[in-house]
Amino acid sequence: MMMAVTQDGVKSGAQAPRGPVLAIDLGATWTRAAVVSPDGELAARGAARTPFDGPSGRLADAILHVAEQALKAAAAAEGDPIAAVGVAAVGPLDPRSGVIVAPPNLGNGYRGLDLATPLRRRFGVPVFVERDTMVAALGEHAYGAAQGVDDFIYLTVSTGLGGAIFSRGRLLTGASGVAGELGHVPVLLDGPICGCGGVGHLEALCSGTAIARAGREAGIAARRDADAAMSASAALRGSADAAASTDPRALSAADVAAAERNGDERAAAIMRRAREAFAAGVVGIVNAFNPRMIVVGGGIARAEGERLLGPAREAIAASALAPAAAVVELTPAALGDDVGLIGCVPLTADRKEGSWQR
Ligand SMILES: [Zn+2]
Repeated sequence: MMMAVTQDGVKSGAQAPRGPVLAIDLGATWTRAAVVSPDGELAARGAARTPFDGPSGRLADAILHVAEQALKAAAAAEGDPIAAVGVAAVGPLDPRSGVIVAPPNLGNGYRGLDLATPLRRRFGVPVFVERDTMVAALGEHAYGAAQGVDDFIYLTVSTGLGGAIFSRGRLLTGASGVAGELGHVPVLLDGPICGCGGVGHLEALCSGTAIARAGREAGIAARRDADAAMSASAALRGSADAAASTDPRALSAADVAAAERNGDERAAAIMRRAREAFAAGVVGIVNAFNPRMIVVGGGIARAEGERLLGPAREAIAASALAPAAAVVELTPAALGDDVGLIGCVPLTADRKEGSWQR
């Protein structure tokens, strides 16, 4: 356990008592907040678009503002005071210090952004920051598809492709806290450049950003009117459907998927490549980790459903190592867009600041 006094003199290292959690989900497109009860019930929400870039102080203020919105609404409802703040944020980040490292899907202002200190100073309770996919895995384990399953992998296919590894009932953190970044595993050695700078990573082939970029390069047009309005409303719910760009008129992954359904050969090739990359990545995950379950969440996975999961199941049966293939179940996530908020309850429960997750 670490006990430290931070630069501004605020004590860290405290343990959160049981009680409602102020949960913040800092995504590449939306920042959302809610007060979540210990049984995973959400109340009192706030939301705003995540600024893509800016001075770090202004970025931190924007996040604080969304959290204050939710807390104000909760105070109006006269709930119990909050016991802790949990943050599910775009990675990679350092979960012990609460500092974002270098998010590939956001601007340079987020590099080295300390989320924990301003939140601790503002709300006066213990603050726990973790990568969004780690928090989602905690949420699915506590309340969702992986209840009672102690060896599972969580994957999210949305703006990016993220992951988390649960082994023997614990999150695998790795030596520096960034284990489970399964989107940054190479699946195509001469493939496209990833947002992280790597070559042929799974995320560079199968993610909202990758599908939209390939669609733009192939000259596929964005949908208009009714369809576009539907993707905009999906984005407002926090889905990654229209998340590949901040410009609602720009081509999104949902546009490419719709073009495939309308018989566009170029779109079909892009979507097929995304599915093949996903299937190859999943076979590698099954062989490497021997999970009992792979839980797949995120806006793209939800929209594509069996079109994405079906070929991956076939690839596991055809080419994964037999003892691993025999026990693994590939299943959709159960908690939807709120998973990053709900997961802040197990993230903060019975934990001391500055400690690794249990
Ligand atoms: Zn990468």
